[in-house]
Amino acid sequence: MASATGIAGLEPRIQSLGGRLLARVDRELKAAGGGWLDVLVRRAIQDPEFRVQALRFVDVLPTLQDDAELVAHLKEYFADTALPWPAVSDWSLRHSDAPWAVPIAAPLVRATLRGLSRRFMGGRDTRQALGTISRLQHNGMAYTLDLLGEAVLSEREADRYQQACIALLQDLARAAGPAAQRPHVSLKLSSLYSQIHPADPDGSVAAIAARLRPILAVARELGAAVTFDMEQYAFRHIVMQCFMTVLLEPEFRDWPDAGIVIQTYLKEAADDLQTLLAWADRRATPVQLRIVRGAYWDYETVIARQHGWDAPVWEEKAQTDASFESCLELLMSRSGSVAVAVASHNVRSLACAMALAESRGFSAEDFEFQMLYGMADELKLALVEMGYRLRVYVPFGETLHGMAYLVRRLLENSSGQSILDSGLGQASLEKPRPSAAREVARPPGSFSNQPVHRFVRAEERTAFAAALRAARERLGEDYPLVIGGEPVTGAGWITSSNPARPAEVIGRVARADRSLADQALVAAREAAPGWSRLPAHERAAWLRKIAAALLRQRDRFAAWEVLEAGKNWTEADADVCEAIDFLNYYAVQAERLAAPQVVESSGEHNRCDYRPRGVGLVIAPWNFPLAILTGMLSATIVTGNTAIVKPSSLTPVIGAHFMQLLREAGLPPGVVNYLPGDGKAVGEYLAASPRINIIAFTGSRAVGTRLLGVGAQLQPGQTHVKRVIAEMGGKNAIIVDADADLDDAVPGVLQSAFGYQGQKCSAASRVIVVGGLYAVFVERLVEAAQSLTVGDPQQPGNFMGPVIDAVAYARIRKVIEAGRQRAQLLGGDAGRLPRAGHYLAPQIFTGVTPQDPLAQEEIFGPVLAVLPADDFEEALAIANGTAYALTGGVYSRYPEHLVRAREAFHVGNLYLNRGITGALVSRQPFGGFRLSGTGSKAGGPDTLLQFMDTVCVTENTLRRGFAPESRDKRE
Ligand code: NAD
Repeated sequence: MASATGIAGLEPRIQSLGGRLLARVDRELKAAGGGWLDVLVRRAIQDPEFRVQALRFVDVLPTLQDDAELVAHLKEYFADTALPWPAVSDWSLRHSDAPWAVPIAAPLVRATLRGLSRRFMGGRDTRQALGTISRLQHNGMAYTLDLLGEAVLSEREADRYQQACIALLQDLARAAGPAAQRPHVSLKLSSLYSQIHPADPDGSVAAIAARLRPILAVARELGAAVTFDMEQYAFRHIVMQCFMTVLLEPEFRDWPDAGIVIQTYLKEAADDLQTLLAWADRRATPVQLRIVRGAYWDYETVIARQHGWDAPVWEEKAQTDASFESCLELLMSRSGSVAVAVASHNVRSLACAMALAESRGFSAEDFEFQMLYGMADELKLALVEMGYRLRVYVPFGETLHGMAYLVRRLLENSSGQSILDSGLGQASLEKPRPSAAREVARPPGSFSNQPVHRFVRAEERTAFAAALRAARERLGEDYPLVIGGEPVTGAGWITSSNPARPAEVIGRVARADRSLADQALVAAREAAPGWSRLPAHERAAWLRKIAAALLRQRDRFAAWEVLEAGKNWTEADADVCEAIDFLNYYAVQAERLAAPQVVESSGEHNRCDYRPRGVGLVIAPWNFPLAILTGMLSATIVTGNTAIVKPSSLTPVIGAHFMQLLREAGLPPGVVNYLPGDGKAVGEYLAASPRINIIAFTGSRAVGTRLLGVGAQLQPGQTHVKRVIAEMGGKNAIIVDADADLDDAVPGVLQSAFGYQGQKCSAASRVIVVGGLYAVFVERLVEAAQSLTVGDPQQPGNFMGPVIDAVAYARIRKVIEAGRQRAQLLGGDAGRLPRAGHYLAPQIFTGVTPQDPLAQEEIFGPVLAVLPADDFEEALAIANGTAYALTGGVYSRYPEHLVRAREAFHVGNLYLNRGITGALVSRQPFGGFRLSGTGSKAGGPDTLLQFMDTVCVTENTLRRGFAPESRDKRE
């Protein structure tokens, strides 16, 4: 960390400057006293449960226009917790059922929220913000304004943010008299492009820069300064690239009034700083670098854990503190090419900056401190008194839009990362001492999901693009059938083409006929005895070996999915990861189920074991061409059965590559036989065969129900009942409750309805909006849907690709045309779809009745029906009113409605306050009931049971009155 001549050598001076700062703060604190807000914050620090409820309540509060609704929420959130509000609110809470309680409690709570907003936000509009600025100026402080807004979900919203920033700069310049300060604004770049995506930095930067340049031009003309805020880690590389690109352009290259932020809680902070310093040297005109700790620590940590990624942020506060100091030292040693802004509420950090500035001969004019509005006001006054320059970061905007900011501030104030935690005593001056890094080892035999690519690292993106190029080199190859471990020529060919470029042949795959199907049956039968005799752990080892091989080639497989199935980068990668998960997870489950279940009774030994059933027929769909095929196949073989795999004729090349991988892994011949072919001619023929024991099918309701019938027919010579597992379609609904957060609900619905062009069995095809939110929801949804990028999925910036083939395209078009006769179609594709390829833009229907085919039949394309409901119960009734029961979702911040949904929303997979697609193996065992499936789940603890028979052996161990100890116990 700091060298001897740096911070380490300055320690005595840091202590003495810090001591002086603390003495002044102490004086200010005594003068200020504590208000009721401090009581609230203190309670939140001490009581984590209260903190969670309070933050959630604050989050929902501004959407509650109706007083009775507000009090109902208050009661739900704090039913079991005493409130720190003045006694009256507690009292009214207890009496909240009484009509007279509402007019008392609601205004009180609203006043509390206004108090909170006033504390951390500088006003609701520019006029109020100007008032705040002039009060700050009066206290000797400068400002930077941050315009808070709703999440930018559409290009129109991005345009509005751009215009609002320009208007703000102009208002500030107009308000500035001769003595006033120059305008200073902090920008959120993610708000300048609704389709910003980590995998597509170039496209994102181009789109952001187009809206950014006019803002910077106005700023420059008005003599204003602009800082680019840093936001989530996922966008950090885009913000940096945008900053370094635009400010090197001739128009801005010699403009000194731009700045950017370094978040020192990031493990890569020092590298970022070096990059920016080297860039600033090249540019020659200084920029401002604002060094901060970072405001999204909780978010980054949770998101990383959820996805199994390494956290990008330091896990311990002391590590962040140490990182802050080393970055500060580097920054202040290089202040020639950059202006330095030290943004912190941490006394030691401030003292370090003072000591470094002093030792480098800076005057107080050469750098500035920055602090947040409403935070550590005593420190602000102390710094000004000591003669330092201080800029206050002032967010302003509508209370509703400020909630995310407000919750972050409250969280910061009440979780272990802040000034309030380190306190303002002498201890706050202690040097940070990070503890040594700990490696947490995963217990052997446990399962964890394969993390998907985050695409924030250049290496990840370059490798993926290279895999796509390599796959393209192999377009048009021929692939054989595989029977008994041997490549076999088919009775003809299935030609697979790229749905994004229909003239492009992905490959030709040999097509089986009935006689080849018979050969496959013989091969699978012959391999069955040897394979079934292997101990479970050996078969599990095969699955793990295959999973490891697939992991090594994950980008190669994902590239084929982009080309053959039309998936975008993220969807393709996720499908490969899910395939890896199925292999690893079923390996663990097979080992678990291998342990016998023994029940001892006096003189009696009972032991249950699972046995393979024989030969499994795996019939897979095209929409998750690797994951579902691998899932059904691995469940079949890990339980000791052998398999015949019939892939969809639309994605047989991906299956063929997987077969090659199995052969390279050395799987014994005949255990898996690959038999692409016509569904009816080959699939149904095999399904009817008396030599098939299990049919594992995933696909449409029509075929699934037909196979249930075929499987039930006894054939001559058949001596067993077939087990038919049929996972079928859905007509999935998301309910958006009256108090939902649209910043979450709109993107959640979009992703669920239009991700992979709506071609997921789990996709949302109905959204039911409760109460008065309908109009605003529809407006934002349609605008956001129209902003989604549609095009060749080889380009990482395209969210939607083509639908799978010309047949699907024509079918969906027909549904849309028929739907237009009965309902209103909003939006459209005009002019933005590529000419070749089976592209459809998102289609949103309103005015749809619950019984309309648009709301009843699976469409399997990017078509969404929006339906209104008067209340939550009606919404539930509509949601449940179809023949399907696969997935469903609810966006609500009313706890009682979430409870109600758990018990009365009839679907196999219910998602609360998130999108409804993307189930993960083990975490969300997947599958539906009613006409969505036979009720079993894929990727769950019970899945493998369906692939086996249970055998129970009972032995009478009593001989002439003597019963020995249990055999299994002795083993
Ligand atoms: P599909 O039913 O048309 O085809 C599925 C598979 O069945 C293909 O391999 C096909 O060749 C084969 N097949 C077709 N007719 C057959 C017959 N008569 N006998 C035997 N096999 C036959 O479905 P699809 O278009 O590939 O996939 C889309 C459907 O799958 C949608 O309805 C979707 O909801 C459903 N799906 C369900 C799940 C789930 O887990 N519930 C997952 C993915 C897809």
